[in-house]
Amino acid sequence: MGIPLKELLERHCGGVRGGWDNLLAVIPGGSSTPLLTKEVCENITMDFDTLRAAGSGLGTAGVIVMDKSTDIIYAIARLSQFYMHESCGQCTPCREGTGWLWRTMLRMVKGNASVEEIDMLFELTKEIEGHTICALGDAAAWPIQGLIKNFRPEMERRIMEYRKMAA
Ligand code: SF4
Repeated sequence: MGIPLKELLERHCGGVRGGWDNLLAVIPGGSSTPLLTKEVCENITMDFDTLRAAGSGLGTAGVIVMDKSTDIIYAIARLSQFYMHESCGQCTPCREGTGWLWRTMLRMVKGNASVEEIDMLFELTKEIEGHTICALGDAAAWPIQGLIKNFRPEMERRIMEYRKMAA
């Protein structure tokens, strides 16, 4: 508890593939917490308060490390698929919302969406977060919130590329 994330990865876990500068992002708490960008990972420590202050969390402390070869939008979309699959269907925001998240994220992966839908996607995560019986709803919402907060330019770039190719 409290170890610098960089030390954890570089000293104890064999380092980032291709070196530290090849780091794209880290999800510090299993699959359910918002990602941290490389800039944040430089100095952050692995403890509850620091990660919360950075807009993420320790979660299960299963650290997911993504280097620059990662399609970050697809990686988060894959998590959406997982949470949709795991939803037990008992409460509506989770049962319906996780499906909406997954389908919208699939289009975001291709760029087959409008820029405005990025905001709609964020709003949808807010409709799910805190409105479900168990924590799975939050877990489905947070990774997407982290993506939008930190990689919105990449999402917009993909939408523009898709439009250019479709024109
Ligand atoms: S939030 Fe939990 S209880 Fe509600 S549908 Fe999702 S998995 Fe089931």
